[in-house]
Amino acid sequence: MTVHFPFNNSYATLPANFFARVAPTPVATPRLIKLNRALANQLRIDPDWLASPEGVEVLAGKRVPDGAAPLAMAYAGHQFGHFVAQLGDGRAILLGEVIDRDGVRRDIQLKGSGPTPFSRRGDGRAALGPVIREYIVSEAMAALGVPTTRSLAAVLTGERVQRETMLPGAVLTRVASSHIRVGTFQFFAAREDIAGVKQLADHVIARHYPDAAEAEHPIRALLDAVIRRQAELVARWLHVGFIHGVMNTDNCSVSGETIDYGPCAFMDAYDPATVYSSIDETGRYAYANQPRIALWNLTRFAETLLPLIDSDEKTAIEIAQAALGEFADIFDTAYQAGLRRKLGLFTSQPDDAALAQDLLTAMTANQADFTLTFRRLGAAAVDADNDEAVRGLFIDPTAFDAWAVNWRQRLGQESQDAGTRHQAMQTINPAFIPRNHRVEAVIQAALADDYAPFEKLLAVLAKPYEDQPEMADYAEPPEPDQRVLKTFCGT
Ligand code: AMP
Ligand code: MG
Ligand code: MG
Repeated sequence: MTVHFPFNNSYATLPANFFARVAPTPVATPRLIKLNRALANQLRIDPDWLASPEGVEVLAGKRVPDGAAPLAMAYAGHQFGHFVAQLGDGRAILLGEVIDRDGVRRDIQLKGSGPTPFSRRGDGRAALGPVIREYIVSEAMAALGVPTTRSLAAVLTGERVQRETMLPGAVLTRVASSHIRVGTFQFFAAREDIAGVKQLADHVIARHYPDAAEAEHPIRALLDAVIRRQAELVARWLHVGFIHGVMNTDNCSVSGETIDYGPCAFMDAYDPATVYSSIDETGRYAYANQPRIALWNLTRFAETLLPLIDSDEKTAIEIAQAALGEFADIFDTAYQAGLRRKLGLFTSQPDDAALAQDLLTAMTANQADFTLTFRRLGAAAVDADNDEAVRGLFIDPTAFDAWAVNWRQRLGQESQDAGTRHQAMQTINPAFIPRNHRVEAVIQAALADDYAPFEKLLAVLAKPYEDQPEMADYAEPPEPDQRVLKTFCGT
């Protein structure tokens, strides 16, 4: 027997109330539209086999591979601040886990593979557009160096799904270091199943935070570690202009990976109040609100751990509050360190945060493109003759000039030569991000059965820090008539 997936399943060995065993629902005529060969190799799965008819049937949920233990995970969650005691994988099925070439355990999950006991009123399916969006944005995030789930494959099911209109159905194969969410902890806490919380915490410590196992208080160490990873993750989002769009606690991974790409988008013009999601009417998940929301989600996480933190509730709350109190510092340190690097600063001085903020304020007032401003700052750091390309991004270019005087004065206190500085800046300020209008154009082409634009965009985004002069168009913000201002969850 040939082993196509080297499964090594651990979640399936947890108690029965952690999940529902359920197989994917077979589909009509699977067709592979994208396979991530490099990721397959990393997972020790043969990409040629995955691309074979048998492999494609697995990726579409039509065939369950040997060694799989398919299941839908149970979880709860706060959606836009409102608690739902039972959500769970309503349209996703975990096939199992593999150990990748670096020894990291990775979930292999099919998203859109049919109903589960957690589907509620949903059909368990995914439409082609969101599958393509998640594929593009998750792989772009990985290439940018932001912790994220990955995309192994996208397949068409050959069936149509009913949304506002009938759309082609698709399945995404998602890879994650785990799919355990803050909402997974909430599921057990809401049922006052403290033993369940403990078993889940032990599993998460063993899987994601082995150092915590060695600590005097492993559960407190777990809380500290999850807080740190979330704070650092959200700082990275801000550095690249990413807006998750639906930071519900069930979309917040305890491993610190970005998860659940729904109505997410990258900002074009810098504005901290930017919101794309059509359902985020109050701006709860706006760009600049993301650190606050991460802390809110972490507070929900801490609440689930209280009985395990200390047997005395008051003491437990004090310890949790102290841990959560560290978030602001951890986030700020990571955020400011990234901003300094984006400005070409290798050292830290007390006024640096204000210098960065002054630029961001001028960018907001002048609708300057976030990605291009920082990318072009690299050349301006070498020679002021290159300023024109940056200042031209500002409605009033003199706003940049005024700021640049202070910036140059500050750069003068650094010891690096201009070449070193430029190189460093080009490794943190990407040239290419998955701009919303490009993603939408790729989806429209795919709906017309043309996948060439999808391939081309993926190729550009695989090297976001390289100039790729022949792809310069992809670095450009949208023309006013190309702007896509709203993103949707289920379309
Ligand atoms: P999301 O907004 O994608 O994070 O999903 C929130 C909840 O709704 C999760 O429990 C999902 O599994 C469930 N869900 C979303 N879309 C569907 C669908 N088409 N069918 C069944 N469940 C779904
Ligand atoms: Mg979700
Ligand atoms: Mg989702």
